[in-house]
Amino acid sequence: MSDTTVAVIGLGIMGGPMAANLVKAGFDVVGYNRSPGKIEILKKKGASSVAEAVKDADVIITMVPDSPDVEEVALGEDGIAANAKSGAIWIDASTIRPDVAVNVAKAASDKGIRCLDAPVSGGEQGAIDGTLSIMVGGDKDVFDEAKPVLDAVGKTIVLVGPSGSGQTVKAANQLIVAGTIELVAEALNFLEAYHVDTTAAIEVLAGGLAGNRILDRKAASMVKREFTPGFRIDLHHKDMGIIIAAAREAGVAIPLGAHTAQLMQYARQLGYGDLDHSGLMLLVEQLSGRAQK
Ligand code: NAP
Repeated sequence: MSDTTVAVIGLGIMGGPMAANLVKAGFDVVGYNRSPGKIEILKKKGASSVAEAVKDADVIITMVPDSPDVEEVALGEDGIAANAKSGAIWIDASTIRPDVAVNVAKAASDKGIRCLDAPVSGGEQGAIDGTLSIMVGGDKDVFDEAKPVLDAVGKTIVLVGPSGSGQTVKAANQLIVAGTIELVAEALNFLEAYHVDTTAAIEVLAGGLAGNRILDRKAASMVKREFTPGFRIDLHHKDMGIIIAAAREAGVAIPLGAHTAQLMQYARQLGYGDLDHSGLMLLVEQLSGRAQK
């Protein structure tokens, strides 16, 4: 793998461990992050700009927060389209608007860059373990060529359709996750009001039809009111905006999703934006007049 150079732009909660797994898999990794400190995760020197990171890369992965960040990194003067070599594969793993994904891929492909939108699910732990679910939009031949790189960071990797489709599937993912967190938070708050042993309740609920990954992975920390991110409420608020806009565009009703989006926004207004999205629990207990002192 060392003859494949992979540039990773954005070394935050997700991009950092993804880059570390690429190093572990034997790729020659060049990292770049806007603020300098985060390069340490790679235990090597990083690039000083996007341009420097991508200029010799065969594959480029971006893992930045939002649509404007991807537009800047892809299409800015210092960006991928202007500086990557022709024929390089650019994989955008960030979660952004599907329409923006299509537009930036089109602009980059006009410069000879082959593009995939490949948002991920599985959270920080999935990134650390290299077991992410990756929903990919783009051409099959590019997908096939990029697959060894994706294999180093993910486990369930599926080409779901043409450019932009990965982001559409990710929007659906975020709808399900937000709604599930809200319902788990409501259930836990309800159980606490009845002084039920929540550990026992979580165990039995997880074994039945109510079982889900949020119960498995987040309920115990929600009970302890531990909300270190993980996935920040600010980012899930961004994703609820994506699904609301895309559903509206398609004329699709998502009444529960729209309500959950409002709750996510409210949690943010209360100052919880930097907490893990399971911090919706704090809002639920406040709405019940049960906020812990
Ligand atoms: P994060 O911890 O905030 O990391 C984003 C990183 O991108 C930061 O280190 C940031 O640098 C860097 N960055 C921002 N703009 C940049 C630019 N123009 N050039 C270079 N670097 C730039 O966020 P994250 O949780 O890793 O999420 C990244 C993306 O993955 C988001 O789209 C999110 O929705 C998605 N996602 C996250 C999770 C999760 O569980 N966290 C799961 C699935 C998908 P600074 O240090 O300067 O801020």
